[in-house]
Amino acid sequence: MYQAADDRYESMTYRRVGRSGLVLPALSLGLWHNFGDDVAFQNQRDIVRRAFDLGITHFDLANNYGPPPGSAETNFGRLLREDLHPYRDELVISTKAGWGMHPGPYGGPGGSRKYLLASLDASLKRMGLDYVDIFYSHRPDASTPLEETIGALDTAVRSGRALYAGISSYSAADTARASALAKDLGTPLLIHQPSYSMVNRWIESDDLLDTTGSEGLGVIAFSPLAQGLLTDKYLGGVPDDSRAGKATPSFKDGFLSEDNLERIRGLNEIAAARGQSLAQMALSWALRDDRVSSLVIGSSRVSQLEHNVAALDADPLSTEELRAIDEFAID
Ligand code: NDP
Repeated sequence: MYQAADDRYESMTYRRVGRSGLVLPALSLGLWHNFGDDVAFQNQRDIVRRAFDLGITHFDLANNYGPPPGSAETNFGRLLREDLHPYRDELVISTKAGWGMHPGPYGGPGGSRKYLLASLDASLKRMGLDYVDIFYSHRPDASTPLEETIGALDTAVRSGRALYAGISSYSAADTARASALAKDLGTPLLIHQPSYSMVNRWIESDDLLDTTGSEGLGVIAFSPLAQGLLTDKYLGGVPDDSRAGKATPSFKDGFLSEDNLERIRGLNEIAAARGQSLAQMALSWALRDDRVSSLVIGSSRVSQLEHNVAALDADPLSTEELRAIDEFAID
């Protein structure tokens, strides 16, 4: 029987999410990789237990996480049932719909009311939950009126299937439109989930944080380590047990181009000079603006998680360090 650590709230930092009453841990755990049926369940259990013991209260899922799609939610459902059930009120669990989930015209990709609400019901069933804390439109869908997608999020909240609504990967302009629609419906959006890292800075050129800030949304950035690229693991070749080594389709060959590796080497030296690993500096950097409420990280093993959480103890980056980083942190 799992008993959560008594000191689990003693060292984690929690940040407010936009203009809401909710706070999230500075680091949240994502279950996109490492929680499908391709990974030993015991490893999944070790990571989730350790995360919660370290004060990570937020677990981020989506309908299609696996493989196969849906299995991450099924496996997390088992962990909830067997381990975390007594702690449900201490957890913020999110799921999403928008990418492809099942065959046929109603299984995505897309943002229709039909797809989103049926998918949310299926996610709740897989996880054995009555409600999720956050339900996201996983991606913008230009072929569905935004009114319909945001209306489906409003229904999800009003029907009690979700406490809050979010959007992911929406541009600043679409975010402003989505936020206005949601406010009109009486279900203001809680949060935006964009990709963001030292090698993926689109949210800066799009001024997304200005829009989310003025609309009152929080931001939780995904893949802050660029799927592992922003660590020292690829500097000496490609380890077999890494995401790149396993030839995961999401980790594109081009990520390990000589240009990128050159940047990684430069960043690695800056990190070493301040006594951090590159992974830790990448997290400190992505958290430097407090309009970023949380980062959603992945971990294939407990040691990575512990190492990454230790980044929260580091001194903030100085102006000089930020300037040095800018020379290499180019997307
Ligand atoms: P990261 O950028 O944090 O990459 C995580 C991977 O990097 C790990 O699985 C591990 O890969 C490697 N890694 C992590 N820490 C270390 C370390 N200290 N040293 C060496 N290697 C390390 O995030 P992900 O790309 O996994 O995405 C995180 C979450 O974001 C997802 O689970 C999901 O919840 C969310 N997400 C949302 C999307 C959206 O559209 N909204 C899209 C993508 C992700 P390994 O050991 O296997 O090499």
